[in-house]
Amino acid sequence: MARPSSHPFDLLVVRFAQLIAERLQPLLAVPARARNGKSERGPSKLRGRTLDMRCRYPGCKNKSKGPRFRFLCEEHLKLPKSAQKAALQKWAAKNA
Ligand SMILES: [Zn+2]
Repeated sequence: MARPSSHPFDLLVVRFAQLIAERLQPLLAVPARARNGKSERGPSKLRGRTLDMRCRYPGCKNKSKGPRFRFLCEEHLKLPKSAQKAALQKWAAKNA
């Protein structure tokens, strides 16, 4: 006594399974999405991925030449070491 696959009970079981899957999917997906969102969109200030490339000299709007040049622009790298140091100390105090 072979039952056709389209027997009402079989369909009911399939429907039930689909309903459960649909109900569970968002519940399972939310934590994963939340985790991804946290790791990808965390506060960038704390992660330090983006360097502040602005010149550290107070009031200077130039782009610095990077960490190897103490974050000073070409212009302010010409200053005497003592002036550079004073500017860096001012910057550190402001950004502490
Ligand atoms: Zn500068």
